[in-house]
Amino acid sequence: MTHSCSICSSQKLRYLFSKPSKDNTNYDIFQCKNCKIVQVVPLPSQEILDRYYSNEYFTSRTDRGYENYYSQDTRNEIFRVWNLNLNDLGVDFIDLNKLNPRSLDVGCAAGYFVDYMKSMGWRSMGIEIAPDPIKFAREKLHLDIVEGNFLEWDKSAEEKFNLITLWASIEHMREPIPVLKKMHSHLTDDGMLILSTCRWGLLSKFLKQKWRFLNVPEHLFYFGLKELIQIMEGLGYIYQSSITYGSGMTMKKNPSWGFLLFKKIFDWSVKLTNQGDMMAIRFKKGSFNH
Ligand SMILES: [Zn+2]
Repeated sequence: MTHSCSICSSQKLRYLFSKPSKDNTNYDIFQCKNCKIVQVVPLPSQEILDRYYSNEYFTSRTDRGYENYYSQDTRNEIFRVWNLNLNDLGVDFIDLNKLNPRSLDVGCAAGYFVDYMKSMGWRSMGIEIAPDPIKFAREKLHLDIVEGNFLEWDKSAEEKFNLITLWASIEHMREPIPVLKKMHSHLTDDGMLILSTCRWGLLSKFLKQKWRFLNVPEHLFYFGLKELIQIMEGLGYIYQSSITYGSGMTMKKNPSWGFLLFKKIFDWSVKLTNQGDMMAIRFKKGSFNH
């Protein structure tokens, strides 16, 4: 059977390597020769993916720090990182706050970014599939959360937002292009989109299946910075700014001072060379018509 790229439909795919999942199923990683996006091929079915997104995902995963997903410490740390990232991206909330603005966080999980935007004075909303984090977001944080698949929600795009965000979610989605197109239709004319994802770059090319974000089949797509900007421009977005961060070194529990020093130097060097393996990119809505 001939497979095609899930991003650009090209059939010119190059095999890179394979990686087993936690339950020991092997997944093949290919790179599209046309758009250069690295991806799991063939794309696993939604039924298979759903098995990996049980409640356990939000309570016992360690590689994205989900073991304390619901704790106050985690919440504070996430708020701190968003402050830094948004500041580095040049987002000016004082300027944006003038018009009683609305924000939407797609794949909002337990709603921390929705909570963050609410704390900034915005009318903030989130959309999420997994019921357990939604329960938390509604009952504990009292947030406005839609339960369901973003692609199935408000199909005529009547709801408009000044800011739409997608934090570390696009790599999980089976249909990233329809999602990004739909987001464009939900933005106000001067609206902003910010997305973050793990970054295919020097670190991942060097570490391959050992790269910390190479989790299959949870992560289906691995975008390069330049390639993702090109895709977004093709969908009518105008590039504004980007940052990369993270060195590929995951923090250990009870780290030794030697580990901390090494991590600090490594983190600092990737910041200087702009080769961090996470990236956040800011776009504004262009006038492109679909
Ligand atoms: Zn492609």
